[in-house]
Amino acid sequence: SYDVVVVGGGPAGASAAIYSARKGLRVAVVGERVGGQVKDTVGIENLISVPHTTGDKLASDLMSHLGHYAIDVFENRTVVKAELGGKQKYIHAAGGESFVSPAVIIATGASWRRLGVEGEADYIGRGVAFCPHCDGPFYKGRHVAVIGGGNSGIEAAIDLAGICSKVTVLEFADELRADTVLQDKARSLDNVEIFTSMQTMRVIGDGKKVTAIEVKDRKTEEVKTVELDGIFVQIGLAANSKSFEGQLELTPRKEIKTDAYCRTSIAGVYAAGDVTDVPYKQIIIAMGEGAKAALSAFDDRVRGLI
Ligand code: FAD
Repeated sequence: SYDVVVVGGGPAGASAAIYSARKGLRVAVVGERVGGQVKDTVGIENLISVPHTTGDKLASDLMSHLGHYAIDVFENRTVVKAELGGKQKYIHAAGGESFVSPAVIIATGASWRRLGVEGEADYIGRGVAFCPHCDGPFYKGRHVAVIGGGNSGIEAAIDLAGICSKVTVLEFADELRADTVLQDKARSLDNVEIFTSMQTMRVIGDGKKVTAIEVKDRKTEEVKTVELDGIFVQIGLAANSKSFEGQLELTPRKEIKTDAYCRTSIAGVYAAGDVTDVPYKQIIIAMGEGAKAALSAFDDRVRGLI
């Protein structure tokens, strides 16, 4: 058994594990991949004191920093269930492994939000994509749609316009929500078309790959089919809190509620980074929150609270 089990190996989890190990605690990190969302990022230029790095480089730096301490890293583990109520907490991974400790730090981050329409799940990786930086190059010279007209959607459209023959932006609301500078840039590009008030109804494919998308104009109720090769879904991120639902208090957006000390609604359970209700989801913030969660867990232990 461990003193602290950290779930998730992104910036928040890595930071929580290192801070805990530096307090002399026995620490395990149980997560899918060290690096987390950072792995989906190309350039990073706002990690203060590091003017420029890449997602891959930062992920391997996190791994090597973890390696400086006696931290047991269990990668490729998906936590499917947790028993958090008692003094000892149990974390269960798919495949049957379990981890026991009096303190758990949840740092499972966030994942791309899905549309939830017919056909989407069937064609993920076969025309339905979420990460423009990762998958954009596969659509070189093709026609793609970007669903979502917020900053991430319009940034994606601008990036993809440099690779793809045509980019169709489909926004559900009556107006784009992206910053004006981004909107102006997107509108200046010949191969970008933008439609608002568009509801995505269905992803259509030929069994092997995406061939079209069905959309409804919310103003005219007209339903039409747009033939294309790829669909980039850019409608935000959702907190990865499912394995802890029903035990911890969540916000309506399913983020884990935390106080200023990263404590959750259960003693001995802390949460940090994008999975929580902390405002502003950024690497530097996730790292800071991970450190806070670890220091809170240590303090609570010293004070005999857990
Ligand atoms: P994550 O990075 O999401 O890590 C969580 C980890 O937990 C993941 O590895 C996940 O697989 C794992 N996990 C989830 N559920 C489970 C489970 N049930 N069991 C086990 N493991 C699980 N921020 C910046 O500061 N600068 C940028 O330039 C920047 N660019 C970005 C670009 C993109 C495309 C994206 C998507 C995000 C970007 N961000 C950027 C945001 C930044 O990546 C996040 O704020 C940060 O990674 C959050 O860290 P985290 O540790 O809380 O969560």
